[in-house]
Amino acid sequence: MSAIPPKVRAAVHERAAGRCEGCGKAAPLELHHRKYRSRGGKHTAANIVALCGWGNHTGCHGLAHGPNPPQGWSLSSGLSDPTKEMFLHHWGLIFLED
Ligand SMILES: [Zn+2]
Repeated sequence: MSAIPPKVRAAVHERAAGRCEGCGKAAPLELHHRKYRSRGGKHTAANIVALCGWGNHTGCHGLAHGPNPPQGWSLSSGLSDPTKEMFLHHWGLIFLED
């Protein structure tokens, strides 16, 4: 598995501005692929969100991988374009751009 390019990593962190893009908490952030790498997801700014940690599945990253992820947090392989799938941000439902 290849690493996230530094430019993409920087763009996501700039967008998040130190806050979890899920709950808005100022916390150490982990990068999450909305469409998993195993489902063909790419290293793009629209496909990657910065979330607070697993927290034993109570943090947003754990929630994203849990059975009931919030809208747009976990995309199935059939959904081909993360820029066209809304993401439930702490501001509300938004589209993410590459
Ligand atoms: Zn969070």
